Amino acid sequence: MDPQIDQYKIDRKPHEAEVHDIMDGASRWEIKVHDHGMVALVDVMPRLVPKGKGSDFAIVQAARVSYGQGTKQVNEDRGLLRYLARHRHTTPFEMVEFKFHHIMPIFVARQWIRHRTANVNEYSARYSVVQDRFYHPGAESIRQQSTANRQGGDQPMDSLTAQEFCDWLDQIEKQYEKYEYFIEKGVARELARIALPASVYTEWYWKIDLHNLFHFLSLRMDPHAQQEIRDYANAMFALVRPIVPIAAEAFIDYNLESMHLTRLEIESMRTGKPLATENKRETAEWEAKKVRLGVQQAGATPK
Ligand SMILES: Cc1cc2nc3c(=O)[nH]c(=O)nc-3n(C[C@H](O)[C@H](O)[C@H](O)COP(=O)(O)OP(=O)(O)OC[C@H]3O[C@@H](n4cnc5c(N)ncnc54)[C@H](O)[C@@H]3O)c2cc1C
Repeated sequence: MDPQIDQYKIDRKPHEAEVHDIMDGASRWEIKVHDHGMVALVDVMPRLVPKGKGSDFAIVQAARVSYGQGTKQVNEDRGLLRYLARHRHTTPFEMVEFKFHHIMPIFVARQWIRHRTANVNEYSARYSVVQDRFYHPGAESIRQQSTANRQGGDQPMDSLTAQEFCDWLDQIEKQYEKYEYFIEKGVARELARIALPASVYTEWYWKIDLHNLFHFLSLRMDPHAQQEIRDYANAMFALVRPIVPIAAEAFIDYNLESMHLTRLEIESMRTGKPLATENKRETAEWEAKKVRLGVQQAGATPK
């Protein structure tokens, strides 16, 4: 080690303005999800923020480093932040970080882990015994396979089949007794777990910056995402919104509830001609967008 390191004098400066804990001194903020699931916010950076501001002050603070102090007078915090969000100046949003503790079924975790920009530490079923917790929707929540959307379902299943499905889940969950039995007999935990279903719960610590969290939320709060992961994404948004209120509002306005128009769609809108494609899915997407834009009635014949 360079001896110079011991010589450095650290100048510990006080805050320039009065600060408060954005989490109000709580050790964590929790929201229950489904039967055994949970989203808990355990830490935020920055956590100590100037009185009257949210953690999103760090976004404008970072942006002003690149724009220079000169812009400070002309840009209100909210205006600058919304400008950054609209123009995809994303790095200032990475200055805010969140650490979560999540408990979710493995089938939800499998979708979640595809998001590579978070730091994750997951419960190990090699070291520890898996707990007797399974995601078990009620019969009223059993969805029918959609014919329009090959990846999902939204309409309720008939009650008889729904009950039959729930009974099947009950039977599968009984397998937990066998898991315990083989653990007791000394089968390695890393093997004993392999017969447990994807409905069993896992948990992890998950840390992510605000830019990448918004990317995650835009995909997983979207109606195309599976309902179960949407429930977690919605709970996460509910937790971060009071921490970064201006950024959360900009996310809704410019991302989640905004709309991307392709060149073909802009051309069709401008000329009033049909979309210049023979692709049925692309045409259907444009029809749906026109309904959202209020320029066409739902179910109208495409032109
Ligand atoms: C509704 C829905 C259905 C899906 N269906 C399927 C499916 O059927 N099968 C399937 O396999 N997956 C599926 N996925 C997962 C999807 O394809 C993505 O893997 C997932 O949403 C993560 O997206 P991402 O890569 O943008 O996010 P993240 O991994 O969070 O990355 C964020 C951004 O960082 C950048 N980035 C991160 N890592 C890299 C890298 N290595 N190289 C370059 N850029 C990088 C990219 O710009 C990326 O958009 C589905 C996702 C959704 C939302």
